[in-house]
Amino acid sequence: MSHVFPRHTKAQLPTAAKGDGCYLIDTQGKRYLDCGDAAVSCLGHSDPHVIRAVQEQVEKVAFAHSGFMTSEPAEALADLLIAQAPGELERVYFVSGGSEATEAAIKLARQYFLEVGQPERSRVIARRQSYHGNTLGALSAGGNAWRRAQFAPMLIEMSHIAPCYEYAEKRDGETSLGYGQRVADELEAEILRLGPETVMAFMAEPVVGATLGAVPAVEGYFKRIREICDRYGVLLILDEVMCGMGRTGHLYACDHEGIAPDILCIAKGLGAGYQPIGATLCTAAIYEAIRDGSGFFQHGHTYVGHPVATAAALAVLQKLTDRNLPERARAMGDALHERLQAAFGQHPNVGDLRGRGLFRGIELVADRDTRAPFDPGLGVAAKIKKAAFDEGLICYPMSGTRDGRNGDHILLAPPFIIEHTQLDELVEKLGRAMARVI
Ligand code: PMP
Repeated sequence: MSHVFPRHTKAQLPTAAKGDGCYLIDTQGKRYLDCGDAAVSCLGHSDPHVIRAVQEQVEKVAFAHSGFMTSEPAEALADLLIAQAPGELERVYFVSGGSEATEAAIKLARQYFLEVGQPERSRVIARRQSYHGNTLGALSAGGNAWRRAQFAPMLIEMSHIAPCYEYAEKRDGETSLGYGQRVADELEAEILRLGPETVMAFMAEPVVGATLGAVPAVEGYFKRIREICDRYGVLLILDEVMCGMGRTGHLYACDHEGIAPDILCIAKGLGAGYQPIGATLCTAAIYEAIRDGSGFFQHGHTYVGHPVATAAALAVLQKLTDRNLPERARAMGDALHERLQAAFGQHPNVGDLRGRGLFRGIELVADRDTRAPFDPGLGVAAKIKKAAFDEGLICYPMSGTRDGRNGDHILLAPPFIIEHTQLDELVEKLGRAMARVI
């Protein structure tokens, strides 16, 4: 009997025994093509460079508390991150994962406004159908109704405006540009409704991952969002926990939008699964307000700046940069999109194929013409997830119908090292899995 407490308490899960490039192998010897556990393994599972970096760091120093000492890998990683960071991001706060990164971002925004003498600013605006993590602050920002439901009485009050989700929500006759400006303007309306002097931050994923399935915003949306934030002195927090670190074909998804945030959250691909790590990057203005004010960010976890975790992430980032892997993610992403288009473009239950780089979404619908989602009771996404896993494919189907209009979708996020033959394997296995369900 296993004493591990699994998320699905009745599940009998295979045991992972080995990682081999894009594959995970269980103790029975079955191979699974890993095309997006949760968009973590951007370098695959057996990268010798990262493994060696982890081994060497454990031997040198496994742990030093950040309250007393910094470490060489933490410093080098921060330097490299900042050298490539968008806009005016200048400081890095290391944490252990995505929820910690978004949680720290919220508290950083709050403390910034206290330091600059605007204590009435405490309100966060985020978007519906979003996910920012599972700790209570991050869950409060997230707009996924199903995830929030049972914890609702404990959540912090935050506002949720519409996501930018063209496929499902653009009106007939509306242009993409017009749609983007209309939904971005919901931010301004909400700021005005709350009173601009009370609003501290707007938080969003540039490409929505888990809740919608690799949905980028339409052109111009984030530029308008940036303008609105600036107009009212509201901080822009971008959550690139899933879509950052090269996944969309740029090191950061916001690079594509031509804007930069005041606070940027990253995780997943940062450690690429070799170590649990996340980071919250902020501008000099935020950092200096705290440094020159109380001199102390009133937040922290034991493993902030963990030497082994930062050593792993440093090796990952060096590899991403030296081999220009974001560019490879873009090229292989285009190749994957073509294959998906050829295999499923005419499928009666495939409503939309979208995404950027190696971050791809397939929206499943009951009816292509009306875009009506499947009855949630059918559990289409869950069934495809299981069928794909049986076929030896790990992907990330999600039932969005739990959260209102949007239907089931499949999220694909393969390692950047994936080869063309493995893209074929991905599409074949997915096709067989889908054929068993719809
Ligand atoms: N933000 C986003 C956009 C995410 O996709 C996730 C994880 N799916 C998180 C935050 C939370 O990250 P973690 O699970 O590492 O806490």
